[in-house]
Amino acid sequence: MQKKIIALKELTRNLWWSWDTEAKQIFEELSPLLWQRNNHNPVTLLQHISDDELLSRCRCEYGEKIDRVYARFTAYLNNKDTWAAKHAPELVNNPVAYFSAEFGIHESVRIYSGGLGVLAGDHLKSASDLGINFTGITLFYKEGYFRQYLNHDGWQMEDYPLQDPETLPIEKVTDSDGNDLIVTVNIAQSEVHAQAWLLKVGRAKLYLLDTNIAANEPHYRDICCRVYGGDQNMRINQEIFLGIGGAKLLDKLGVKPAVYHMNEGHSAFLTLELLASELAKGLSNQEAMENVRARCVFTTHTPVPAGHDRFSREMMHYTFDKYLSTIGLEFDELMMLGSEDRNNIYGLFTMTVLALNLSRSANGVSKLHGEVSRTMWQHLYPEKTVDEVPIGHITNGVHASSWTCGYTGRFWQKNGVTVDELCLSRESAEAVLARITDEDLWSLRYSLKRNLIDYIDRYLGNQLFHQHINSYYSDYNTLRSPKNTFSPDVLTIGFARRFATYKRAPLIFRDLARLDRIINNPKMPMQIVFAGKAHPHDDAGKDYIRQIVHHSRRPEFNGRVIFLENYNLGVAKRMVSGVDVWLNTPVRPMEASGTSGEKTVLHGGLNFSVLDGWWPEAYNGDNGFSIANGESFENHEEQDSFDAEKMYTTLETQLIPSYYERNEQGIPLQWINKIRNAIATIAPEYNTHRMVRDYATKYYLSK
Ligand SMILES: *Cc1c(COP(=O)(O)O)cnc(C)c1O
Repeated sequence: MQKKIIALKELTRNLWWSWDTEAKQIFEELSPLLWQRNNHNPVTLLQHISDDELLSRCRCEYGEKIDRVYARFTAYLNNKDTWAAKHAPELVNNPVAYFSAEFGIHESVRIYSGGLGVLAGDHLKSASDLGINFTGITLFYKEGYFRQYLNHDGWQMEDYPLQDPETLPIEKVTDSDGNDLIVTVNIAQSEVHAQAWLLKVGRAKLYLLDTNIAANEPHYRDICCRVYGGDQNMRINQEIFLGIGGAKLLDKLGVKPAVYHMNEGHSAFLTLELLASELAKGLSNQEAMENVRARCVFTTHTPVPAGHDRFSREMMHYTFDKYLSTIGLEFDELMMLGSEDRNNIYGLFTMTVLALNLSRSANGVSKLHGEVSRTMWQHLYPEKTVDEVPIGHITNGVHASSWTCGYTGRFWQKNGVTVDELCLSRESAEAVLARITDEDLWSLRYSLKRNLIDYIDRYLGNQLFHQHINSYYSDYNTLRSPKNTFSPDVLTIGFARRFATYKRAPLIFRDLARLDRIINNPKMPMQIVFAGKAHPHDDAGKDYIRQIVHHSRRPEFNGRVIFLENYNLGVAKRMVSGVDVWLNTPVRPMEASGTSGEKTVLHGGLNFSVLDGWWPEAYNGDNGFSIANGESFENHEEQDSFDAEKMYTTLETQLIPSYYERNEQGIPLQWINKIRNAIATIAPEYNTHRMVRDYATKYYLSK
């Protein structure tokens, strides 16, 4: 029995469990209530359960489940027959070192903010599944990203609960003598130190650097306090640790990466540390740069200017003075590497420019974003035409098994496949779909929507209660009246993402009277669930949240429009599985890729989106719905009016009627056909297994 308990505890120490349906189940089964209260964190869950209890439960069927899951886990770790072994053996020995300021792996490990982190987490998991030797580098944020709650006015409030390392599946990295492994970096005139933590994610390793140690001057301890927290000075210090600290850590560990992958420009200072080691060999600047370039690849993630870090010359000088003197690079040479204008090194230092200058390849994250990026950065390559600008694209995907809820996972299993098998190819998906009846698919949709509505009811109860706990208590009772609950019979739209303003969350409220007619159509009603966080400094984004909350309280929308607090990976999983339609309304072409819509497809959800990011590649007219045809206007108001008009028209004339048109059995055949088409055409293409295979063959392997 003791062995089973040890196995169970070992399972908590590797996030592999987070994408194995049965592994998740064995934790939940211990205590569904504690599982929920502990934010699905098995480490803290087990801290609440005595060995006596475990011992007695392991003696019965529960023990057999542990054995089964543990056997699958060890087989996974030891599997030699992987995609990489066959197709990329060079990537089995030396690792890909993947640097990212955030990783979204599971809601219980709060070291991510949004899409960039989720993508990094999904990339890591797929690399592990495919057998690629893969090491991630990031920071340990003791306060993570904020937890969102709304005040009675619907204004976003933030708090930052501490993450105690004791409550996470991480372990301290030590050197061969068993001492804490410390990396030291020069920042301004100080030496700043960080210790490292290791998080295991399947076969992949993720190292987290942590400056919160006694050896540091107090003001440097908080460098890695919060994801994207603080001011420019904090940001540059974080990026120094991520890039330079990360490269030093790999060196100390004796890791010799096959390739360094910079996920977004945040980590581009990594190239300076690589340059330092080349210069130390006595090479010229030119030769050293060539060698660095030969080892680095870079992915850019956004056409939004604020998404590209830029630092002033003064800040660069202050911060890098001592560091440069130790590596033998002149300050002006450094400024040249990050300057957008070769003839003027007195302007800002742009991280994306440094990354482009010192990597052998670069890519955007969808076909459209590749094009946009080539135009955006053409001025760096005055001798090239737009088409020749060396930025390609690999379209983002999602890690299919992580984004499949337990219910859906079992649905596919009952139909003979794992979701990974379903996603192998269009043919494999079509073969499975051919065995599934319309009735089965429709019943799946109902079950998933019912699960979401039950969840919303519990979640919203707590949320509204605390929003109205004081003077607004009477509002609480009206808002919670039985007539104000969602119904599974009603077409349900989901909208959830970061509340960056270009995503235009409130667009659907542009014409309130028309939306009222749509939502309250007695024969064909509609309901909408929103969620999302605005960056703490983004008051315009917070105002969008407030507007939506206020709309949701209008009598005509009460019980038909709701906003769920604290969007995170857990809330996202619930929403993408339950809704009928996933809405996305970015200003084209600001959405580099977007991925949340890809998550809904395996659950039979359909996308309804502006033709931006991944959607123009995937949309075929029959696997979802589009908003407009990519028309763009100089004037924001005009753009918003145009897109809103198209959205309403599509809802009224296509989307809603096809959802409510039923055959004698009450089944919407047209709608089900769209679901089939979406699963067959989207799931096999827009997943991270395909994406990571593309990175491996196009960028990691080619020199
Ligand atoms: C998937 C996901 C995102 C990214 O969504 P986009 O559609 O790309 O904006 C952001 N946050 C969370 C929690 C997610 O799960």
